[in-house]
Amino acid sequence: MAYEINGRCNSCGKCMSACSMDAIRRGWFGGYKIDPDLCDSCGACKWVCPQKAIVPD
Ligand code: SF4
Ligand code: SF4
Repeated sequence: MAYEINGRCNSCGKCMSACSMDAIRRGWFGGYKIDPDLCDSCGACKWVCPQKAIVPD
């Protein structure tokens, strides 16, 4: 299981700094994405997200 970022994301970037696996990238048009192949499902990004936009995939 990995996590994914849903439409509540406001692109604050906090999750990217929190991810020790470097699994979160800023994509085209400013959207953030989690690479499921890199994510180890630690949940750190979910806890720092002020928008509660990170949910189990
Ligand atoms: S912490 Fe939440 S709101 Fe901020 S970029 Fe990540 S998913 Fe989006
Ligand atoms: S669950 Fe952990 S490894 Fe996966 S994207 Fe979030 S902080 Fe990174």
